[in-house]
Amino acid sequence: MTTQTLLQQLYDTPESQLLKKIATLKHELGSSLLILGHHYQREEVFSFADISGDSLKLSAQAAQAQAQSIVFCGVHFMAETADILTSDAQRVFLPDLAAGCSMADMADDVQVNRCWQELSEVLDADACVTPVTYINSTAALKSFCGEHGGIVCTSSNAQKVLTWSWQQREKILFFPDQHLGENTALAMGVPEDDMIVWNPALPMGGNSTEAIERARLILWKGFCSVHQLFKAEHAATMRQNHPDIEILAHPECAREVCETADFVGSTEAIIHYVQQAEEGKKFAIATELNLVNRLRMQYPEKPIWFLSPMVCMCSTMFRTDPQHLYATLLAIRDGDTSHQIIVPDAQKVWAKVSLERMLNLA
Ligand code: SF4
Repeated sequence: MTTQTLLQQLYDTPESQLLKKIATLKHELGSSLLILGHHYQREEVFSFADISGDSLKLSAQAAQAQAQSIVFCGVHFMAETADILTSDAQRVFLPDLAAGCSMADMADDVQVNRCWQELSEVLDADACVTPVTYINSTAALKSFCGEHGGIVCTSSNAQKVLTWSWQQREKILFFPDQHLGENTALAMGVPEDDMIVWNPALPMGGNSTEAIERARLILWKGFCSVHQLFKAEHAATMRQNHPDIEILAHPECAREVCETADFVGSTEAIIHYVQQAEEGKKFAIATELNLVNRLRMQYPEKPIWFLSPMVCMCSTMFRTDPQHLYATLLAIRDGDTSHQIIVPDAQKVWAKVSLERMLNLA
């Protein structure tokens, strides 16, 4: 039976029955299976995760995992990261192979290599620039960073990684999220004048030679299509309606949103912030909808609003539904590798170097 036919059958199966089937098959696969679930996953899938967390926590867990088969309920770059960090005897599966990340797609091989070449026309890039990539990037970009003395970061450890990177070389080229790079540097007290934005659609990223020579931080012009939907006006309206509210924002949000927030942090940090707050505290949160809804359910005694009046949901994370999860578990049981993610060996070596540089900083 083809995957499409199987999925069609599963969509016709009542959800309660399907959830039972997943639980039974998961039990049957026992300790040979590990399911990792990112915070942005829908609840029906998230509830099957053996370990949940953000990219940093899940990548560290993947590195230590013993299970033969790891199912990553997340997006493509996360499964790639798990494949890079696990042993050759382990296999990593992504329930829906079309679950990508628009931000990761904003820095492709050709653009990245052209940028490095153009920078090398102005300065000795290998001697002066540490390339840093947010973990939300392709294995190819992680490999590029590893090969050029660079490193990976997540939203939890970006400050630590920037500090390390400036200790290596005088400039940083930060991929692919402009906002995470900018918000992190501003929080560290880096002056705005030390930063430039590199637009890959323009020659020299749209910068003059002088600007490149002067810059300490070169920010790739990429963004998260979910977090860019939060606006400073949403925060202003929220404060007008609820003067005692605290606004929590993810650093993938634009600078104006982060500047108006009471707290800026990774998903893990936002969860921790809400957890430790006193009863009755009110929050408006600027990050992915599934996470905010889960916090609302977990802490009914702390009223929580979603910062935007629009639905800001990661549509690619949402592709992983119980039907795809079940189809993946069946494939694993039957030795079918159609859901497996395999990073080419040529990329794995250097990508692992850049990831391990980050994990060693923790
Ligand atoms: S929330 Fe944004 S950065 Fe995260 S996976 Fe979705 S598109 Fe990519």
